[in-house]
Amino acid sequence: MDIDQKNLFRLQLLAWYDKYARILPWRETHDPYAIWVSEIMLQQTQVNTVIAYYKRWMHKFPTVETLAKARADDVMKYWAGLGYYRRARMLHEGAKMIISQYNGRVPDTVEELIRLPGIGRYTAGAIASIAFGKKAPLLDGNVIRILTRLFGIKRDITLPATLKKLWAIADQLVPEKRPGDFNQAMMELGATVCLPENPQCGQCAVQVYCTARAKQWQKKLPYKKLKETITRIQTATLVLKKKEKVLIQKQPPRARWGGLWMFPHWATYHHLKKTPGLKRSELKHILTVEHGFTRYQMRLGVYALSQSHANEPDNLALFLQKNSHQYRWVKASQLKQFAFPAPHQKIVQHLLAQ
Ligand code: SF4
Repeated sequence: MDIDQKNLFRLQLLAWYDKYARILPWRETHDPYAIWVSEIMLQQTQVNTVIAYYKRWMHKFPTVETLAKARADDVMKYWAGLGYYRRARMLHEGAKMIISQYNGRVPDTVEELIRLPGIGRYTAGAIASIAFGKKAPLLDGNVIRILTRLFGIKRDITLPATLKKLWAIADQLVPEKRPGDFNQAMMELGATVCLPENPQCGQCAVQVYCTARAKQWQKKLPYKKLKETITRIQTATLVLKKKEKVLIQKQPPRARWGGLWMFPHWATYHHLKKTPGLKRSELKHILTVEHGFTRYQMRLGVYALSQSHANEPDNLALFLQKNSHQYRWVKASQLKQFAFPAPHQKIVQHLLAQ
């Protein structure tokens, strides 16, 4: 594209965005903290799912200060169900860092933003351009798809050299005026028109510039050499009851679901059976939970002690408590007050329905 084409491309894309952009809560603000929260939530999570979480979060933690002062448990509770919990911990740490090192103000340059925990080049570009009007490019899955199609780039997008080229193109395209709107327009076009499987080229505001459309390469681009394989994970989980109460454990900070509460669990049913204190007990299968996220498919076998041992779980409990980061006996009716990851929330729902 020469300079005139680039300018026309920007004008046409922005005009389309002004007319057709979806109304989303984080688009009604230039508050850098709010934009940061929304961008982190939107990583790996669908817009429709994020909206309710975002609203709840901003109601509970409306400013960097409120988030920095919040208890870790509370932060996890308001994130519970969104997945990838590391994002919540990083947000929390980032808020504390902004208070201690930046006097409570979110920094406005990509270089400084990128030093905050959990903020990569994409998120830094989003905050700098959308909240502060800086001419900063960004590249996410949607933008990669549009750029490879627009410019007919057939290189493998998992290669660093291809990404470097795409970043350079994104940098050249983002304008001085309205850089934040331009970046959002690119992402919006990718999310609503330039779809992965079935791009709506006839409705596309920038179709005249598009190589893929001219050559009918839409299905071939973007090109990715490696096919993702689904990894299957199986675990065995135990609902251990003592009278009215059930045992839950808090996960250590660096575990997969660090900071969240879960029922005691083992890598396999075989490991569960070998647990000291269980030898004389009979295990009863009560539920199977299937849970898929990105490239993982998880299958949880959920067990309880059979009736004859239901009142004698003490040896086992003692063993679990000794090996646990933190544990608690709680009434089933109180389980909703704790933050569980999605697969264990299904167990909670099962127990509450009984
Ligand atoms: Fe995507 Fe089609 Fe638009 Fe090209 S013309 S950018 S393939 S929607």
